[in-house]
Amino acid sequence: MTNSIEQKIIHHVLDAIADQKLHAGTKLGEQELVGVFSCSRAQIRRALAMLTGYGVIDLIPNKGAFVSTPSERESRHVFEARRAIEATICKNTVQNAKSPEIARLRAHLVEENAVTAQTSRAEVLRLSRRFHMILAEIGQNDVLGQYLEELTLRSSLILGCYGTQRSSLCATGEHEKIVEAIEGGDADLAAALLDHHLSHLENDVDFSARRGSATALASILDVAT
Ligand SMILES: [Zn+2]
Repeated sequence: MTNSIEQKIIHHVLDAIADQKLHAGTKLGEQELVGVFSCSRAQIRRALAMLTGYGVIDLIPNKGAFVSTPSERESRHVFEARRAIEATICKNTVQNAKSPEIARLRAHLVEENAVTAQTSRAEVLRLSRRFHMILAEIGQNDVLGQYLEELTLRSSLILGCYGTQRSSLCATGEHEKIVEAIEGGDADLAAALLDHHLSHLENDVDFSARRGSATALASILDVAT
């Protein structure tokens, strides 16, 4: 990713979603964003178009841009696509991982292990996402890397919407086991561990969280009647 103003806007929007400050369905007003980022309307439009391409924002004609609300079905499809793509990425990674690549992965694990209760949810999500992107970079299939970039961004939105606890974020211990398998050159084990890790991540997403708010609304209506 380039370090343009558009990328800055994208990262801020994604961080706010991951931090659960920016909720699904929230309108992202162009004029307001121009003020926040001190940039042009054209730059805002480009950033919003890119976020739309990532499936994180919905652009509705004559209404504007809104944070997408991924359904449970769509969310499960995102995880299914990740499992399919990351299985191949993982095998490529094992093939390409020599000492410098293993050192890079280990250095990343040190960063993940340094996370404390004070670390923001956005930062934890960013580190988790980065681990998977490093595997893709080592795998060296740029097309798969691009797909994974979109899918991990959409995962961030899903975890921002439905992940209510830290347990719904990547478990560092699982990343560590994957790195050990890569270091041992065992492609099948690494792919199996990664598949298990992604299933674990999906199973920890609490889709009832949003249904819960609907129940709360229903009970409010009950009181009113
Ligand atoms: Zn992970």
